[in-house]
Amino acid sequence: MTEIVNEFAWSISRHREFQECPRRYYLAHYAFWGGWEPEASGLARACYRFTKMKNLDMWAGEIVHGTIEWILRRLWEGKSVTREAAREYAVERLRRGWKESKERQWERDPKRRVNLFEHYYGIEIPKERTDEIKEHVLRCVENFWASEVFAFIRSVDRTAWKAIEKRDAFHVGDVKVWVKIDFALAHDERFYIYDWKSGREGADDLRQLACYALYARERWEIPYDRLRIVPVYLRELSEAGVQEYAVSPEQLIEAKEEILQSAAHLRARLVDPERNLARMEDFPMTTETWRCRRCFFQEVCYGGRFEGE
Ligand code: SF4
Repeated sequence: MTEIVNEFAWSISRHREFQECPRRYYLAHYAFWGGWEPEASGLARACYRFTKMKNLDMWAGEIVHGTIEWILRRLWEGKSVTREAAREYAVERLRRGWKESKERQWERDPKRRVNLFEHYYGIEIPKERTDEIKEHVLRCVENFWASEVFAFIRSVDRTAWKAIEKRDAFHVGDVKVWVKIDFALAHDERFYIYDWKSGREGADDLRQLACYALYARERWEIPYDRLRIVPVYLRELSEAGVQEYAVSPEQLIEAKEEILQSAAHLRARLVDPERNLARMEDFPMTTETWRCRRCFFQEVCYGGRFEGE
């Protein structure tokens, strides 16, 4: 059997994680390694468990993505799908995930069973909050269903669909880069890459999309002037419709440079960059301790729930 190794690969989330807390970055990308093995150390097992953890908002976003993926895959397979069936699918995932987390089923299967941060750390979840999560998920699914984007996707021949929730890697220089494409299709000389957003608009959104554009150029050999990047904010669909972005060669060069610089910066911290080996002491804990209150790894750093400011 081929041995799997912890190789260095860049992603936008990895870049953000390091900026927020170098220690968390270390715990999530180095200390966790092998934590799925029965004979792993307590630290590796805990870190692995926390890499799989989600908070309520992340979980809601994952269910929105999962439901849209389910809708699109059914259509791809030529099966019928209704708005009501999509709602039921989302509600069932909410119900199942909540049960898995409450019953700590993740203790047997941390990779596949939901482990909610709020349950794990004993944070009270008022009923209004669970109602809000359910309402948010269903609103995003409804908005997707009613969107002009979905109408457009359905109108295009399935052979033009290029990706549904595709996680893949490509190279920028010698740096391996991970991306996850929510949906892509080719139509009328244009190539569209869609990104479903269940949260609010973020400062990094367009930078992330430029990274997708680099991927599309390499994976599908799409000239940059044919590419259109489409973030779809599902929380509230704008009356003005969904905005498409063209990508300029300058943006692509900038995105490339940012990836190379960020990767060089991350690798410079390693004790052995060739073998991607790191030491905990080279990755200090953040001094912005307000971050610790929402951090999944607080048990590793503080032995339990962080109670400070
Ligand atoms: S608990 Fe705080 S210091 Fe520890 S990893 Fe999380 S953010 Fe960093």
